[in-house]
Amino acid sequence: MTESNQRELSDEIVIRINQMHKWYGEFHVLKDINLEVTKGERIVICGPSGSGKSTMIRCINRLEEHQQGQIIVNGTELTNDVKNIEEVRREVGMCFQHFNLFPHLTILENLTLAPMWVRKVPKSEAEATAMHYLERVKIPDQANKYPGQLSGGQQQRVAIARSLCMKPEIMLFDEPTSALDPEMIAEVLDVMTTLAEEGMTMLCVTHEMGFAKKVADRVIFMDAGQVIEQNTPTEFFENPQNERTQLFLSQIL
Ligand code: ADP
Ligand code: MG
Repeated sequence: MTESNQRELSDEIVIRINQMHKWYGEFHVLKDINLEVTKGERIVICGPSGSGKSTMIRCINRLEEHQQGQIIVNGTELTNDVKNIEEVRREVGMCFQHFNLFPHLTILENLTLAPMWVRKVPKSEAEATAMHYLERVKIPDQANKYPGQLSGGQQQRVAIARSLCMKPEIMLFDEPTSALDPEMIAEVLDVMTTLAEEGMTMLCVTHEMGFAKKVADRVIFMDAGQVIEQNTPTEFFENPQNERTQLFLSQIL
């Protein structure tokens, strides 16, 4: 069987995680994580609740600190150096389950806030960029509304557009569709698929296995703080090697 999404991958490594460990207090939450992500690669991360998926994603833009090993993003090692952290955050966009839009700002204001105040982009340029990305996520007509006036699916698309306004090199998604009603999931996955097709480097924590099969270059399965198995989607779904992967897949498919 051939894979529709199999393709040549770049050999430029944009994320490198070496022997990384993290503890929450006494609790050893991530154990010896090793991961290399190449430019343009699309990775889906799945695994049972509590396995450490969010923690790992959050370590990549230093929303969480790791205690051992290395995380290198676009050549910058994540350390306590604030400059490094700022540099990495500029390159890495993130979308969460809950969209975290500012409720008292319009959609357009939500999108222009960080570019104007963090990147010092002039207002007219920030607005033009915002409208460009609102077109891309197919809701330019909502620009002057407030988040509370939009559906959940629309709000999540705004959140994606907001990240894109910062022109990130890498996008991290942490269960972006899991708080949405079923009829809104597809519209968010469509936006993510388009982004993937345009070559964005993406790490997506999701249990949307249709998305994984269609879009991912690689699927990573985590359990109890470890990467248990990783493979191309075809191999991963048709021929899972580890018992825990098999159990997980039997529960969600
Ligand atoms: P997942 O995203 O796979 O569900 P998480 O990364 O959210 O997993 O959590 C992994 C484990 O770490 C869970 O046991 C969770 O309870 C614990 N955990 C998550 N965040 C914290 C925190 N801030 N402090 C202490 N324990 C945490
Ligand atoms: Mg999580």
